Amino acid sequence: MIEHVPDQIDLRSDTVTQPTPGMRRAVADAEVGDDQYGEDPSVNRLQEEVARLLDTEAALFLPSGTMANQVALRALTRPGDDVLVPTGSHVVLHETGAGAANAGVQFSAIGDRGVFDADAVRVGIKPPGHIVYPPTTLLVVENTHNRAGGIVFPSVMLSGALNAAREHGLAAYLDGARLLNASIASGRSPADLARGFDLVGLSLSKGLGAPAGSMLAGSAELVARAHRYRRMAGGAMRQAGILAAAGSYALAHHVDRLADDHDNAQLLAGELLRGDDIEIDLGSVQTNIVVFDLVERRGVPDAESFVQRCRERGVLLNAFGQRTVRAVTHLDVSAEGCRAAAKIMRAIADGARS
Ligand SMILES: *Cc1c(COP(=O)(O)O)cnc(C)c1O
Repeated sequence: MIEHVPDQIDLRSDTVTQPTPGMRRAVADAEVGDDQYGEDPSVNRLQEEVARLLDTEAALFLPSGTMANQVALRALTRPGDDVLVPTGSHVVLHETGAGAANAGVQFSAIGDRGVFDADAVRVGIKPPGHIVYPPTTLLVVENTHNRAGGIVFPSVMLSGALNAAREHGLAAYLDGARLLNASIASGRSPADLARGFDLVGLSLSKGLGAPAGSMLAGSAELVARAHRYRRMAGGAMRQAGILAAAGSYALAHHVDRLADDHDNAQLLAGELLRGDDIEIDLGSVQTNIVVFDLVERRGVPDAESFVQRCRERGVLLNAFGQRTVRAVTHLDVSAEGCRAAAKIMRAIADGARS
């Protein structure tokens, strides 16, 4: 039997998912009210669910993960502060310079490939009270780390880094856009992974498959501050329960199935490695992201042309560097789709044109 493979296999991101029929029903049935009066029951419910999930006092619903990151920066820093971030972080590379424009902070990247240990934190912190150095006031962690290939921050290293930050009076922010992927992959609870952070961001519109929305969770006091900065950013909404209902649905139905996305990423990586034109650090394929390199050899295209040719054959990807490409698995791609995509990708990497 020939299994059905869709005409287009979209591996650009886990943001491309369509709401499922069940999610659409939850949206249609959502009770709503004016959230700026605190009267949207669906938003309130989602905020309570996420606070419970992450074991925090409170949580706030925002339109996007970028806004969650930006609001967190505002809530935890002052203009002129220095913020320690992992290399290749979303907050530095994917937010069009917003950290500088909104919070007025500068970033110092520490560690390697998205992770860092306690020493890297200590070395990164500028000498406090110094006449020339900016005050380092915040540590950002990205778990999972997108550009490093969806890797999970190793837990012992993480607690060391957080302790070092605390010893020096830094606040800590977790960009957990894909925190539930980290939880499923590591077998640790979301609350466990969120512990030790002042604020935690969590995206509903990535692997969880909701059409929009992210959360910020933390103490009641910090969430109240975040509430103000959300308004300041123009992110306060009205009958937002229409969106929040999709988020609640995703938390109830789409968390355990992230394991399928992780299996599919493994499958995709394994299939890609069957040729010798693509290199992948298999150790980095821990969740739903496969970042791979096209080898430097005659006939093997660079990332731009590879992505272009794949698109012509119905496989959608993102170039992440000169010879680096990212593929992301999600709700709307099957194992069969990954196999079919890998076959096309291998042929194109090989210089074959059919
Ligand atoms: C996608 C992403 C965000 C931002 O989410 P948007 O909803 O697209 O603004 C933040 N951090 C990380 C690590 C992400 O991958």
